[in-house]
Amino acid sequence: VPELPEVETTRRILEPHLLGQTILHVEHTDPLRYKNTKRAEGKTILSTARRGKYMIWQLEHKLEVIIHLGMTGGFRFEEASHTRIKALLDTKTLYYIDPRRFGKWWVVNAGDYKDIDLLNRMGPEPLSNEFELNDFKNRLKQRKQKIKEVLLSQEVVAGVGNIYADESLWMSKLHPQRPSNTLKPTEVKKLLESIKDVMQRAVEAGGSTLSDQSYQQPTGEMGYFQFEHHAYDREGFSCNHKGCKGVIEKIYVGGRGTHFCPKCQTL
Ligand SMILES: [Zn+2]
Repeated sequence: VPELPEVETTRRILEPHLLGQTILHVEHTDPLRYKNTKRAEGKTILSTARRGKYMIWQLEHKLEVIIHLGMTGGFRFEEASHTRIKALLDTKTLYYIDPRRFGKWWVVNAGDYKDIDLLNRMGPEPLSNEFELNDFKNRLKQRKQKIKEVLLSQEVVAGVGNIYADESLWMSKLHPQRPSNTLKPTEVKKLLESIKDVMQRAVEAGGSTLSDQSYQQPTGEMGYFQFEHHAYDREGFSCNHKGCKGVIEKIYVGGRGTHFCPKCQTL
């Protein structure tokens, strides 16, 4: 499932292929899932951005293409199986693939996110200076839900999904079911630093390609952060915290598979 590092990796690789190109045709057969794409045709791409797990292409005439990769969405430079959209640009064609079809596209007036309400409620970007201690403390204090669910909500910090929530909580030695408003100031500080650190390293590694191979970089290369996972998908393996004799367990939190060390992440 593409989270911030996978979306950011995709954006960085696509960007030089997009800037200054005019979108000639957005070819697909699913107008309910890929909305108003005709509006993008004939418009030039001026810049790209990312907010949480959403990629944004900023077009002339104050339009934006917003892309959410869902569970298995991604881009390729060559036609591949499960191609759902062909984006014909001036000098190249991009292929959007999505085996499971949970991804979505919207073309909107810049900043008009009434159909994508999460973008209006989203917390700060974890790799920006806006993700800072006092604000994070306040946001966590206002919530009683389990800390993992709060991280997944996108409302206290953007772009954290199942993988990077598990990794950040493991690194912070916090139990995923701790009620958000019970975190001590030192724990909040450690969590903030862990989220920044995990996200930074995962972006540098090109994201995580899991055993299902669903995420790949647009070049077809995999991501490499899965080799640095300590909790996610490591059920039954020894905890890597120094001196800890725990074994990673899998439980469900808010319906999501959750990996943690019961010895150093206690309730
Ligand atoms: Zn441990």
